Parts: sequence; C-alpha cells; structure tokens
Amino acid sequence: MNPYEVFLTQLDGAAQVLNLSKHVTRVLREPERVIEVSIPVRMDDGTVQVFKGWRSEHNTALGPAKGGIRYHWDVTRDEVVALSAWMSMKNALLDLPYGGGKGGVRVNPKELSDGELERLSRGFVDRVYKYIGPDQDIPAPDVYTNPKIMAWMMDEYEKLVGKKAPGVITGKPLILGGSKGRGYATAIGGFFVLREALKMNSTSFEGKTAAIQGFGNAGSFMGKFLYENSTKVIAVSDSKGGIYNPNGLPILEVIDHKRRTGSVVNFPNAENITNEELLTMDVDILAPAALEGVVTGKNADQVRAKYIVELANGPVTPEADEILYKKGVFILPDILANAGGVTVSYFEWVQNRMGYYWEESEVVEKLDKKMSKAFKEIYDVMEEYGVNSRKASYIVALRRIVEALKARGVA
Ligand code: NAD
Repeated sequence: MNPYEVFLTQLDGAAQVLNLSKHVTRVLREPERVIEVSIPVRMDDGTVQVFKGWRSEHNTALGPAKGGIRYHWDVTRDEVVALSAWMSMKNALLDLPYGGGKGGVRVNPKELSDGELERLSRGFVDRVYKYIGPDQDIPAPDVYTNPKIMAWMMDEYEKLVGKKAPGVITGKPLILGGSKGRGYATAIGGFFVLREALKMNSTSFEGKTAAIQGFGNAGSFMGKFLYENSTKVIAVSDSKGGIYNPNGLPILEVIDHKRRTGSVVNFPNAENITNEELLTMDVDILAPAALEGVVTGKNADQVRAKYIVELANGPVTPEADEILYKKGVFILPDILANAGGVTVSYFEWVQNRMGYYWEESEVVEKLDKKMSKAFKEIYDVMEEYGVNSRKASYIVALRRIVEALKARGVA
C-alpha cells in the first residue's frame, strides 16, 4: 500500500463508524490542489540541476492549508498528497483553524552546499509563491528542512510580494518572528499525550524503558524529555543504524556524539544494532520518529512495546495496526502524537499576526492544554464507539471537517 492508500483506508474506517455520506468522503478522497514544480538550480561547479517538487493542499474547509516541506531523495507526489491529507486530519483534531497542506522536494540535501540549498529553497518559493500566503497556505519545516531554510523561503516570498509577511511560514528563527518553544514542540507534544495515556493506566514515566527510531529533531528531544523524566532510553537510531545499552543511554551525550560524528552509531559503551532490531526491543515505550511504514504486517507481531508514540507520520501500516490493537498495544496515533509541532506553528502564526510575542512558559502551557484536550476527546470517542485510538482520532477530526464542509454547503 502506498501512503495515500493508507490514508484512504483510515478515512473509510472512520467514515463508516460516523455513517458519513458518500458525498462527503468523495470530497475528502481527493486533494483540492497539487502543484508540481521543476526547480533549476545553478550548482557551485557551474552546472545546472533540475529538482522536482510538489505542494499539496488537501482540504481547506477549516482554514488555510498548513503543513511542512520535506527535502528527501525518495519523495513522491503520492507521499506528499498523503501527508497533506494527514495534516487536514491533524489540524482538525487539534481544533486549529487550518486545512491540510504539505510540500516535498526530491533532493538529498546532504549533498548540497549551503549556497545550493539556499538557491533551491528560494527557487521552490519562486514556483509556488502565488499559491502560498498567511491566509492561503502556510508551510513549515519537516524532514531535512529547518529554521534556516524557512528564513530563506520567507525572505524570498516577501521579496516577490513586496511586503513583510512573517505569517507566510512557521518554524522560523526567533529573530524573524519564530515562536519560543517551536524547536522542541513536536517532541514535547508527544511527551504530553504519552503522559496522559500513562495516567489513564494509573502509571507514570518513572522506571519505564524506551526505544526511539530516528534521532533528529523530534526523536532526540523526545529522548531528552524521557531521560529527564526517569525513563531509561535503551536504544536510539538514525539512518546509519542504531545503538543499544540495556542500562540506559546518557541521552545528552548521545546528542553530542551525533552532533560531532553525524550519527548515533559507534557511541561508546553501547552495542550497534540495526533499525529493524530497535523496533522489536523489549521496552515499554516505542517512539518511531523517522519515516513512514516501518511497523508493518511483517514485524508487528514481534513488537514488544506497550505504548507506541508516533512522532513520525504514518510509521504503522493499517495491517500492523490491527495486529497491535489485538495485542493490546496503546498507540498514540501520529495525528495526535506529533501535532505539537503544528500547534506551536499555529501559535507562531497567531503571534506574527498580533506582532506580540509570548514567553516560552506560556507557549508550553498552552500546548499542554491543547494536547491534553485532544487526548481526552479521543479517549471519550474510544469509549463511546469501542474503537481503537487511531480510528477515534479520525472520528474527532472528521466531525469538525464535515461540519465545516456542510456549513460551506460543499457536502
Ligand atoms: P529530522 O530530519 O530532524 O530527523 C529525521 C531523523 O530520522 C534523522 O535522525 C535521520 O537520520 C533519521 N532517519 C532517516 N531515515 C531513516 C531510516 N530509514 N531509518 C532510521 N532513521 C532514519 O526530522 P524530524 O523533523 O525529526 O522528523 C521526523 C519525523 O517526524 C518525520 O516523519 C516527520 O514528518 C515527523 N514530524 C516532524 C515534525 C517536526 O516539527 N519536526 C512535526 C510533525 C511530524
């Protein structure tokens, strides 16, 4: 199943429980708009390379499209469309005034110099600037994009439209209107909903064990929060492989090791393991924080974690979902678990529009409230309909989108 087929399966499952009409699901099965672009970039050696990119706006019934831009060598149109559909659901679940959007450029950013990366990022905006804007479509960082890239993109957009527009993009550096707390928002959001799930089972982080796949922005901050809250993080990984120590890894030192060497691999006093081994470790908490489709029908049976906090988008396939649900694994689904990023992006956009900036503690407190409220809504729906957490999260999201579509007379 490709990622878009996964989304359709999830949509159909929730639509059936809600008894939604075919008119409504027909609208949500297709993205409203997908822009495909080719970006010519002058490379440092004088040659020109052309990179393919997409921006997908899935549904904007609730407000402007919102979602990150990913730079990855494997990005496809289907993947970008699926990710934009998940953003529609995520934004609705968190009750944000946004529809769903996502962008992607097929490139290996590690092979580009800073200058090439800047020309590529500005080139992407040159191609899509008519379709984005603070009231239209608001990009943000995702895999292998960061505040520096957001700054170039915002700057290019402002030059093209001839005015300041900090609300066109979120995840910016603080000096250009970024929000305090945005850097670790995704991880702390996941941490908050995991805390709520543990609470429901009358337990806490104390003495738990965890494994994290993907040690980038989301994964490394999650490691830090777990580590600081008495959970033993025994395994972490990145694209080069993983490391394991049954007594727990000193996460701050691992972060430093990755910063110095480019990978977590070969960390002293730890055993090197594969990414596949990490997924089936005997831990309480598994946090997939890399790419989609890593827990599948093939390995779900061997997963031993009791809680899965999906920091990545779509890390568990529908087939695996069924198997894990039967095993009694509590999944904090992606559209909830990693929604901290877009929620603080929303706070950033609000601050940009007001021109008034909040303290970090205010941002974190507001985020905690939003995440905990969404968790509670999902939990209530799980009880009401007897469905798993993923289906419940789609039900909460769909109710809002459908209400907006009906109010607009679309369906
Ligand atoms: P990032 O680029 O900072 O980190 C990605 C990490 O994954 C890196 O450590 C990389 O080495 C690792 N990785 C890449 N391919 C891998 C593979 N095949 N196996 C194992 N590890 C691999 O990205 P990020 O921002 O941390 O995003 C990670 C995931 O979280 C993505 O799925 C993204 O869509 C999702 N997410 C991120 C945010 C955010 O605000 N950062 C918000 C929502 C969702």
